[in-house]
Amino acid sequence: NRIPIGSAVRTQAIVNRYFVKAKKNLGQNFLIDQNAILGIVSAADIHADDQVIEIGPGIGSLTEQLLLAGAKVFAYEVDSSLPEILKNELPAKIGDADLDDRFKLLLKDVLKADFQKDIGDFFDFSKPIKVVANLPYYITTPIIFALADSDLKFASLTLMMQKEVAERLEAKPGSKAYGPLTIAVQTRMNVELALQVNHESFMPRPKVDSSVIVLTPLVDKYDIDDYKHFNHVIKMCFSQRRKTLNNNLKTLVPDKNDRENLIKSLGVDVRVRPEDLTISQFIDIARAIPAKH
Ligand code: SAM
Repeated sequence: NRIPIGSAVRTQAIVNRYFVKAKKNLGQNFLIDQNAILGIVSAADIHADDQVIEIGPGIGSLTEQLLLAGAKVFAYEVDSSLPEILKNELPAKIGDADLDDRFKLLLKDVLKADFQKDIGDFFDFSKPIKVVANLPYYITTPIIFALADSDLKFASLTLMMQKEVAERLEAKPGSKAYGPLTIAVQTRMNVELALQVNHESFMPRPKVDSSVIVLTPLVDKYDIDDYKHFNHVIKMCFSQRRKTLNNNLKTLVPDKNDRENLIKSLGVDVRVRPEDLTISQFIDIARAIPAKH
């Protein structure tokens, strides 16, 4: 019957007791909304003995509920003032188990993680691993790519981020938010919006609202053999958003006829804008253009 860490009263009490000053440069915005926290746990579909990597536990608002839902949690954190707070404030016992058996913290930048090496003693890597995080917003996209391109065989990544970034990740062709980030993520993972969280749910309050996105491995993978070339082509296609694809392709395909034929071969009008193309059509474009390296 303890008051949860992620309630405004308990968070305030912890802040007072340890003189916590939220560090802006580390993207520290602590969750103080139990509905949002339980919403994240539920979006991540946590069951007993799930193996969860948490990025940035902060003072433990989300960690506590992950543990109570039965997960074993391995956390990456960079703020060295937090381990002591977590040790004192997280429940000492979870069921019959000691906290140490269920929770491990590594003081390390997650962007420098070597998952197998860091977590190998604590997790069974032959079983699925879920990543859950209220992300430090200043490194949202680097973290997503580090996870997606790592050797980690994850079952899902449940990530809270700025609403605007979430909109770009889940965007559909034809929408304003659809662009290179959408394509980079959607060619790697399936993207689903799980919930929206108002900026009032944080202490301190950020300026913008947040969304929780669930990323899962793609069942039907896209056939991209040369990612470097593909990324370059995407970048060029969107080099000037307001111009047509035809215009943006001038550097890559200098000949006007070649360019128009390429665009027509996609089954679209030559005046098409880049944001109106599907991922498969971008893959076709990249295939038709020789790689430079
Ligand atoms: N999970 C807590 C919550 O929901 O209240 C805190 C979330 S806060 C938005 C982000 C957390 O990530 C902070 O605790 C911050 O110190 C940590 N952090 C920042 N940069 C990090 C990095 N490079 N690697 C790991 N953790 C980081």
